Amino acid sequence: MSDVLELCAQLIRNRCVNDGTPASGQEVRSVETIADYLGTAGTVVEPHPGRASSVVRVAGSDPDAPTLMLMGHTDVVPVTAETWSRDPFGGEVVDGVLWGRGAVDMLNLTAAMAVVTKRVIDGDLAAPPGGLVYLAVADEEAGGTHGAGWLVDVEPELVACDDLLTEIAYPTVEIAGGVAQPVMVAEKGPSWRTLHAQGTPGHASAPLGRASALAPLVKAIDALLTSEGPLLIGDEWRAFIDGLGLDPALVAELVDPERIDDVIARMAATDPGMARYLHACTRLTTAPTVVEAGTKANTIPDRGSVTVDMRLLPGQVPADADRHLEATLGEDLGGLTVELHSEMGGNASPAAGRLWDAMASAYGSLGVDRLTPAMTPATTDARFFREKGVRAYGAGWFDGSATFGEFLDMFHGNDERISIASLDRTVQLLERVVGAYGGRS
Ligand SMILES: [Zn+2]
Repeated sequence: MSDVLELCAQLIRNRCVNDGTPASGQEVRSVETIADYLGTAGTVVEPHPGRASSVVRVAGSDPDAPTLMLMGHTDVVPVTAETWSRDPFGGEVVDGVLWGRGAVDMLNLTAAMAVVTKRVIDGDLAAPPGGLVYLAVADEEAGGTHGAGWLVDVEPELVACDDLLTEIAYPTVEIAGGVAQPVMVAEKGPSWRTLHAQGTPGHASAPLGRASALAPLVKAIDALLTSEGPLLIGDEWRAFIDGLGLDPALVAELVDPERIDDVIARMAATDPGMARYLHACTRLTTAPTVVEAGTKANTIPDRGSVTVDMRLLPGQVPADADRHLEATLGEDLGGLTVELHSEMGGNASPAAGRLWDAMASAYGSLGVDRLTPAMTPATTDARFFREKGVRAYGAGWFDGSATFGEFLDMFHGNDERISIASLDRTVQLLERVVGAYGGRS
């Protein structure tokens, strides 16, 4: 069994499930796994018991040259085990495919990054002139409070770097005349609110005329489920579409706010994952997620709430989320009150510079014809580093065993899995990126 396969399977088995509560995750287990493998733990921080991250810094030959960081998170999101075809935490290999929660988000990359870092530590691969940093980080899946957000705020020197490679890694796409590799350069910003409904409590045996908190709540949820947020065809979207080498007529449709939804409707029939991606990358999205109401079977609920996950594109601001709620629920928000959790615009790195060039050279040597700057509708730890001026990208290297759309549906979904060939390819890619990442700027 190769190092990357063994390590990724062990990280899956470590079951560092982050459900958003401070005591969950317990990433210290994976920090130990990685330290055993690397032969060093580097510097370990633990902002909350069990929520450990480790930073391994390997010096280069020129302290003034730029530093490259490889950052992988070790936590994963919860599963509904009954709806999986295999044990989500078994790390089983079946027909050349490794199964388990985290196989594509992002233990595959976290493991591959560790393997490449070990080769640098062992002297089998030269460190970039300005050095290499490996960061195995906790708590990506719940906002980075005990992970990257904390490190960048509290220990900035420990995680100082110039360029950063992290998630999300997408498979290649076929384009006219070759193969394009999407490289994640931009992401949407989360704007999360909880809407609270009020009613009057009473005995549920005599419900006539009672003001149940469920009435305004259900109405609001129904409206939110079918609402469409404002469209925005931004620069990042245009750059992605331009980079795919598509038929000019299709390109014209994909960047036209009047016609993009026709393309999405057509695509939904054949490639629903891709349709979802197109939809999410061209508008503010709204998804009600957590609903709470009621205390007892015989009591009319006087309180209820729904949490809404809205996502803003680069170029959209939190006020757009407020306007969208008013447009959907009415100016009085259907009588609901708003509790704000987070609001953040989208963020992006320019598709140019040292790391971009190193990646173009690495992918070029693997037969990729073109890098395509892409956006993810999700949120990653890259945002903390982009705020500090670090250029951050997400990329990996996969075999053709899953389409772009199928691949996207595995994130936080059922039956997450990755081929062994893709794990090996990602190691190959990262070795070449590290090798090509240059000297002085
Ligand atoms: Zn992730």
